[in-house]
Amino acid sequence: MSLSEFEIIQRFFTRSGGRTALQSGTRLGVGDDAALLAVPPGCELVAAIDTLVAAHHFLPDAAPRAIGHRALAVNLSDLAAMGATPAWALLALTLPQADEAWLSEFSTGWFELADCHGVDLVGGDTTRGPLTISVQILGTVEQGTALRRSGGRAGDCIVVTGNLGDAGAGLAIARGAHGHAIATASLAAIDELRSRFEYPVPRVGFGRAARGIASAAMDLSDGLAGDLPKLAQASGLAAHIEVERLPLSAALLSFASLPQAREWALSAGDDYELLMTVPRSRYQQLHDLAAGFGLRLTRIGELRAGGGVTWSMDGADIRVAAAGFDHFR
Ligand code: ADP
Ligand code: MG
Repeated sequence: MSLSEFEIIQRFFTRSGGRTALQSGTRLGVGDDAALLAVPPGCELVAAIDTLVAAHHFLPDAAPRAIGHRALAVNLSDLAAMGATPAWALLALTLPQADEAWLSEFSTGWFELADCHGVDLVGGDTTRGPLTISVQILGTVEQGTALRRSGGRAGDCIVVTGNLGDAGAGLAIARGAHGHAIATASLAAIDELRSRFEYPVPRVGFGRAARGIASAAMDLSDGLAGDLPKLAQASGLAAHIEVERLPLSAALLSFASLPQAREWALSAGDDYELLMTVPRSRYQQLHDLAAGFGLRLTRIGELRAGGGVTWSMDGADIRVAAAGFDHFR
């Protein structure tokens, strides 16, 4: 490597030179053998980790800025799903070489998003090998208030934030499948879909605000068809989805046929929207709360006694190919 490990950490991942920690609980960040972090009294520490492997989790030619954004965004999304407030992150970087331009863009993508959420990068590890990015996120939540997958009750509405399927279209576009666009798709719509895939926006503020209203929550990383069974199982219930209700963006509908749009919405993954359940009596409250965050919230089905997930379209039962993405299948 032209740059040493120390220089990489110093130049791209240490916020020195006047930049102070964003979190008051950051007692010691990058530079020692470990970080020292103070959790506010009355709070629980919330921890999650996600690894991105080149070619498996992002395209080999993806923009480094998008990779830096994504590595943090997917972790923030896990904390959003718990209703937690993100505070700290640790970054384990495995790099094939010390490419300064790559590192500079990657860290730009990372810190743009980290600054939005007040997340301090407090440590990590830098090694050489096939490009792999592992991020541990730490946050806090007032004791006993975290959202879980297991809190759903029979009769609760199943709701989802934002639109589904945009990221699936964005991935097709990033792969160079522009040719499949239907004639009405504008360049602006294509850019919007691509950006929904490359720069997912974790629903952190809304997740936190939904505590005490939503009964259960998870984030959608693997697609509704793959993820919903996990929430239904954790709640010990069945789930039914009315597929015609799935929220589809204008951009997606201008780019793809309705069946294709619905297929992406069900199975493509990478949307990083929040899937929640909410008692019927509190649906409107949750809907209005989402609107305050500029977020669409759509009722797409309900939890029922029993187990498993069923799907219907305009009143008729349909089959949806089961699993979302599974690395070992
Ligand atoms: P050690 O050998 O004790 O594990 P290192 O020399 O690997 O320490 O790292 C020095 C400091 O830099 C540590 O505080 C570590 O957490 C931090 N660090 C290493 N790599 C990164 C990275 N990619 N991003 C942020 N901090 C890092
Ligand atoms: Mg080390």
